[in-house]
Amino acid sequence: MASKLSAAATLLAVVLAIDATVFTDILEWKPSAGLDPYPVAFKQLATDVYRQGYDWHLPNGQVGDVHVYLIKLGEDYVLVDVGAPTADYEQIPSSGLRQALQNGRLRLITLTHGHFDHVGALVSLMKEYPDVQVLFHEAEAPFLTGESGDISDAKGLSVQKPAWAAPRGSISFHRGHGHAPGHVSYLHKPSLSLIADDIFNNEGQPPQIRLPPEVFTPNVTEAELSLKKIAQLDFVKAFCGHDRAEGVTREALQQYFKIL
Ligand SMILES: [Zn+2]
Repeated sequence: MASKLSAAATLLAVVLAIDATVFTDILEWKPSAGLDPYPVAFKQLATDVYRQGYDWHLPNGQVGDVHVYLIKLGEDYVLVDVGAPTADYEQIPSSGLRQALQNGRLRLITLTHGHFDHVGALVSLMKEYPDVQVLFHEAEAPFLTGESGDISDAKGLSVQKPAWAAPRGSISFHRGHGHAPGHVSYLHKPSLSLIADDIFNNEGQPPQIRLPPEVFTPNVTEAELSLKKIAQLDFVKAFCGHDRAEGVTREALQQYFKIL
């Protein structure tokens, strides 16, 4: 297990240079509709796993929801994703995160993938936490360098060796395919909480498990296979980036395939 974890860590060891000027274009990008600010509090979902969520008002009038996750590892914290861009970027690394960290230290921001609704507060957080490491799968680098067109003209990525890593056995990394080339889900092993993120959605009223929207998923067949694969992991609850409930059980995720 230890060697598997270290291989995964190597795979993910793409660390951003702490140079916020690189991301000027992210700062200038603003959606046409007003957005709600982040709420103050992170909510506890399981032992040492927290979530902050907010509604996201899309330019077409629809309201989506976005969640980011925080994992506590002793005095250290790992933030999984940084949410959608909002009208006021300075609001995002708000008192909510500071409050949740208490006296602990934000060591790592891990990005499940580079879609803009998951990397919105990156610049603000890098400014506020200049020592934080930022990790993502190297296949997502084009989303951050602008080659994909997702975030234009952001340049200056550098690869550095991570100075800090989560304790062995605490988090495992799981690749997903179909939705984004380098999608990674995170399993917090002590609580068996799976932060699956955009491997599935759980939206609607009542919330329903679905594959991520086809319009943002270049290969739906691969996305379905990834969801099937992740549903086999050993977890109690799985959480996603767009979720109207508080995650889904392993049984519910496996049941989804029976009705497909
Ligand atoms: Zn996505």
